[in-house]
Amino acid sequence: MFNKILIANRGEIACRVARTCRRLGIKTVAVYSDADKNSLHVQSCDEAVHVGGSAPKDSYLLGDKIIKIALETGAQAIHPGYGFLSENADFAQACEKAGLVFIGPPASAIFAMGSKSAAKSLMESADVPLVPGYHGDNQEAGFLHAQADLIGYPVLLKASAGGGGKGMRIVESSEKFPAALDSCKREAQSSFGDQKVLIEKYLSRPRHIEIQIFADKQGNGIYLFDRDCSVQRRHQKVIEEAPAPRVSAEIKKAMGEAAVNAAKTVGYEGAGTVEFIVEADQDGNAGRFYFMEMNTRLQVEHPVTEMITGQDLVEWQLRVAAGEPLPLLQNEIQSNGHAIEARIYAENPEKKFLPSTGTLFALNMPAEEKGSIRIDTGVRVGDVISPFYDPMIAKLIVWGADRRTAVFKMRSALDDSHIIGLSTNVAFLGRLLRCDAFIDANLDTGLIAKNEKALLTPEKTVQIVDLAFLLAARLESDMLKIRSAARELDSPWQQQDAWRMNKSCIREFSFTTDGGSAVYSLRYCYQDKTISLGDQKSKFTYRNLGNEIRLELDGLHASASIVSHPLNSNELHLFREGRHQVWAYQDPLEMSYSEEASTGKLTAPMPGKVIAIHVKPGALVKVGDPLLVVEAMKMEHTITAPFDGEVSEVNYSQGEHVNEGDQLIIFKS
Ligand code: ADP
Repeated sequence: MFNKILIANRGEIACRVARTCRRLGIKTVAVYSDADKNSLHVQSCDEAVHVGGSAPKDSYLLGDKIIKIALETGAQAIHPGYGFLSENADFAQACEKAGLVFIGPPASAIFAMGSKSAAKSLMESADVPLVPGYHGDNQEAGFLHAQADLIGYPVLLKASAGGGGKGMRIVESSEKFPAALDSCKREAQSSFGDQKVLIEKYLSRPRHIEIQIFADKQGNGIYLFDRDCSVQRRHQKVIEEAPAPRVSAEIKKAMGEAAVNAAKTVGYEGAGTVEFIVEADQDGNAGRFYFMEMNTRLQVEHPVTEMITGQDLVEWQLRVAAGEPLPLLQNEIQSNGHAIEARIYAENPEKKFLPSTGTLFALNMPAEEKGSIRIDTGVRVGDVISPFYDPMIAKLIVWGADRRTAVFKMRSALDDSHIIGLSTNVAFLGRLLRCDAFIDANLDTGLIAKNEKALLTPEKTVQIVDLAFLLAARLESDMLKIRSAARELDSPWQQQDAWRMNKSCIREFSFTTDGGSAVYSLRYCYQDKTISLGDQKSKFTYRNLGNEIRLELDGLHASASIVSHPLNSNELHLFREGRHQVWAYQDPLEMSYSEEASTGKLTAPMPGKVIAIHVKPGALVKVGDPLLVVEAMKMEHTITAPFDGEVSEVNYSQGEHVNEGDQLIIFKS
């Protein structure tokens, strides 16, 4: 076994590889870019070496430099993780030349599976079933058109060198073929520098089912069961699970054996995944399966396989790369229970899944439980999700004795995941876990598109119960203030709960949402514990359980979590049943920006974009006057004057990006 390896990756996968190494007593060397100087993966390793600029091409893709660092630090092998250099045959070869072990398959196997067309030809010769189609060398437009006509529409055009769904075009009819071919070729050229395309029959209800395989240098090859990754958006996986539901034992066995056969055909070693596209019937049951591609590395979703088999696949990779035989034989591997993984991303599902960047002001995740709840992440609270890399925040993995138990566990784990500072897909995932088709395992790759309305348009109606939670949170924070202020807790003079003799005290609390455009005023009566919103009056009691508030409203029980923004305690985030609402408490007493008042400067409270400026140098402003508007998390925040004064400088113009703490406006002192 190795004494020291270099991890040529970042984020959660670098941390995950380091964790296994630590357990096995293997020292680790991290490499990092400028943007990752203080990142978790750097701290997770025994040594760390700076490799270059923030853009991947200036750092994590610099194969030669990474090999040099490995040699200088005395590492014996390089683990490439996934992405970056992991499927680069030249890099694998360069490692070998430099006397380093590449923890992955031989360069020849990566190369063989690198082109979709070449891989298909190989698989065809190994009798692995292929989707009916054309993947030959003749790329003449008229010939391809005739092939598509022969296959029958709809067909799918793919870039041979493709990946990540790039270049893929569904062609519905013969007339639409020429234009689709042109556009597929253009995208193939610009994305992969190779115009070559292939044509496949487009399956109307496809499922994505993949087989985890492992092979060693001794010629053993086995499969560690299957995973279903059908829940996708824009051809990218969102939820993965193992084992794949609604697949007969015969089909599973046939797929497993076909996958091992595929691996043996290319002289495979280490961890690999053979992806199949599978025809589903109307209930989602798997029918015929066809080879799609082989990924010659560890997959993002490998933890679900680890959860059902109880094996550590990174340990297996290390052992195989060090020349040991596979730890288990086919008949020694058992599958137990059901595991689900949800990928938590910094993105905005309601805005076409646009990635979002910024600081993670709160990152409260459910507690890990061995064998049951696992969180793989590469970030901590306070870290920044930058535009340079994949905006994944964490992978949440749960295990249950059966699928239903796992689904409910995932649902509650998502409800306990509270992230603030940027848009995330957590609430969207929560809705997905409540979607009937998902609960019934009636899966296919169109599940999200078919349920778009329910999944992508969150319930926006504000209910009195939402406001009751906000009120409970406010009352709790008032209590905290009172407790910390009270020197003599028992003294009636210290009581600040608005108690009045002979008179019931009613206090009004105002909350706004939608960037301040919707205002809700709630009246709370301290004596008879009722709340009223307009004409609606309800009896209200609550209990604070620390990370959750439970309340009773006219006999109805509900629970939710409220997290206030660490930089602005009046910004309240309400997490309830797969919903995440952002609210602002209108504090009538608080003198905002009191700190700013003493310095004569106004700084940005959050990173964002300046979208409007209301003042110019020389302007005389009164406290509360709007000065400028910053858009953050797709919400507008109006920055108001913290005191009366004269503006001397405005440091930003409309459209400019500001970081948290940037000085926006200077006042004349
Ligand atoms: P890429 O390598 O670009 O990600 P894949 O060949 O792996 O492309 O396909 C990505 C996804 O596209 C699959 O998971 C599936 O959802 C869909 N897909 C691929 N081939 C077909 C097909 N022949 N019919 C229907 N859907 C397909």
